[in-house]
Amino acid sequence: MGYQHQFIDGSACGLPVGKAVCVGRNYAAHARELGNAVPESPILFLKPSTALVPLQPGFAIPQGRGECHHETEISVLIGKRLKNAGRAEIEAGIAGFGLGLDLTLRDAQNELKKKGLPWEIAKAFDGAAPLSPFFKPDVFGDVENTEFSLSVNGSQRQHGFSRDMITSVYALIEYISTIFTLEPGDVILTGTPEGVAALHAGDQLELRVLDTVFATVVR
Ligand code: ZN
Repeated sequence: MGYQHQFIDGSACGLPVGKAVCVGRNYAAHARELGNAVPESPILFLKPSTALVPLQPGFAIPQGRGECHHETEISVLIGKRLKNAGRAEIEAGIAGFGLGLDLTLRDAQNELKKKGLPWEIAKAFDGAAPLSPFFKPDVFGDVENTEFSLSVNGSQRQHGFSRDMITSVYALIEYISTIFTLEPGDVILTGTPEGVAALHAGDQLELRVLDTVFATVVR
């Protein structure tokens, strides 16, 4: 069976699986680590629904296509259609928050960037967005002041605070909704803090947010 959105509390979700809208360079320290300028407006890109896979119990990365980097990001599950939406409408339209990996074929992306070509081959391949189950918004609390982290094989690799985002979660969704209509079942990936690095088959990952640990393995 393919990917379906899940809630952590086990309650029925029922939302279809839509696209993922992702933002690049939303944390200044991560932009710097890749040698990129901090952008003046959000850098957006899409992953198709075929990129969405469950984070657990394990996920695959492409083989023979250079380094595949983890980017650990707060995810947002959209529950209602949002177009040119304001803050109140966005708050009412969010079905959940979780964590996701924006898997990135970094060598391929660097080649594409050099040539001025689009990033889809590096970012939008099958399985490029492993997603945790979602917390309901009232359980998750303040998404704009959330701590999260990733450890790989017992060592912490990424550690972030959503308050360090260049464009905060609600402002980001507001901006996105002026460009891409957000549909129920779409997901937003809100950008990664610094510490991105290559994954390898067999790596044991722990993604943490609130008091929850999502353990998984790279196949
Ligand atoms: Zn990312």
